Amino acid sequence: MKTKYCYGYVRVSTSGQEELSPDSQAKLLKDFAKKNDMIILQIFYELGISGRKADKRPEFQKMIALAKSDKHPVDCIIVWKFSRFARNQEESIVYKSLLKKKHNVDVLSVSEPLVDGPFGSLIERIIEWMDEYYSVRLSGEVTRGMTEKAKRGGYQARPPLGYKIQERGKPPVIVPEEAEIIKIIFDKYVNEHTGIFDIARYLNLCGFKTSHNKPFERRSIEYILQNPTYCGMIRWNRTVSETNEIRPESEWIVSDGQQPAIISKELFDKAQIRYKSEYKPSGARPSSTYKHWLSGLMKCPVCGRTMIAKTVNNQKSYCYFTCYGYSKGKCLAKTSVSSLRLEPAVLASIKEVLDTGNIIYRHVEPVQETSVDLNVIITEQLRKNAEKFDRIREAYRNGVDTLDEYKENKRMVQEEKEMLEKQLADIKPAEPTIDTSKIAMLEKVRNVYEIIESDSVDPVTKNEILKSVIEKIIYDRSKDELKVYYYYAPESQ
Ligand SMILES: [Zn+2]
Repeated sequence: MKTKYCYGYVRVSTSGQEELSPDSQAKLLKDFAKKNDMIILQIFYELGISGRKADKRPEFQKMIALAKSDKHPVDCIIVWKFSRFARNQEESIVYKSLLKKKHNVDVLSVSEPLVDGPFGSLIERIIEWMDEYYSVRLSGEVTRGMTEKAKRGGYQARPPLGYKIQERGKPPVIVPEEAEIIKIIFDKYVNEHTGIFDIARYLNLCGFKTSHNKPFERRSIEYILQNPTYCGMIRWNRTVSETNEIRPESEWIVSDGQQPAIISKELFDKAQIRYKSEYKPSGARPSSTYKHWLSGLMKCPVCGRTMIAKTVNNQKSYCYFTCYGYSKGKCLAKTSVSSLRLEPAVLASIKEVLDTGNIIYRHVEPVQETSVDLNVIITEQLRKNAEKFDRIREAYRNGVDTLDEYKENKRMVQEEKEMLEKQLADIKPAEPTIDTSKIAMLEKVRNVYEIIESDSVDPVTKNEILKSVIEKIIYDRSKDELKVYYYYAPESQ
């Protein structure tokens, strides 16, 4: 038997229907080809376009054009189900008869019976008819879903950046200034091959804002890059409406929208190709945050945000400190620095302080504000005490109190006054803190240094101990300058 050549065609259209992922469909095609001594020259993938609504199936058209060419590259086209090949019976008959009669190319389904003879084509037609029935029914469900969503006001209420609703119930219209931002994003991403972070930084530098009037972040750029609204399509079923959880892409429904496009379909498709090739599920990101003994202490020299320690490829022997703002696209400076460079620099800086005794630090006052409050409180009580003297004298003069009663009352108020005056005297000496703490401070730093230097102490402990004397550390890579900010807080008794 002569080896047959074929194309595979994979299409994922809608949710609800029993559906196989593109990979699963492709695998079935490959298994089928192997079993039947066929060689698949190419598999064409049509992803995320719904069955009945999509007029153009670019991959399908490409495949048909090749299959029809004079070179006769393939003997057949294989699909998982006939419903993948065509969207309705008419279309199926047109393409099949065209391919068979004019170009001698068969269309085979790997999961539906292939029967020779007159009944063969009848059964094939019944299968197609059933598929079409399901597609019509499904399309009705999709429309219902859209209508419901429109009624709830979901899409109508807030079109994405680049569009606005001008008239209730009408498709959104383009906001030219915002559309420019969208064009910049796609252009930079596809044509200039700029990274998502860099795009966010660029936009923020230009002063552009998201539809929520916030600076751009990785997330907002990713959302825009994946939103087919911008090429004139509408996407449904991307998220579970109750939880906002994103469904697998094979379940998304994409169809022609009513809004004008801001970018071409071609540009959008190119963006999807790049995005998919670079996307890594969060669990598999190469770098992860890591508890280093300098964690939380390193601050960005430009924006002051904390620098996060990240390991590279799970390499535990070193890590990189990167500005948290930078990784969010909010800081413009590339200040990332390796722990291999920082560790010796920090140790050397502390050592120098210990050797020279020159230490600059911020004196953190223990919480003494209460004594100030106490002062105010006692003064107030003394004022009230003086009023009491006036009142008991008044009571005696008016004959309310006897002389004995007056004397007794006077004695009690006098006692109170003396007690208050004594209390006030006790808190008065709020001695100004003199620089007697410097020796204590250096002693503290020396202890800390010994612990940091030790190999037998774990990074978490080192980190805690370091934080008892150091507020922050700023390393300026451009000047190779390291600044350690110490603080001294007297132990509370
Ligand atoms: Zn920064």
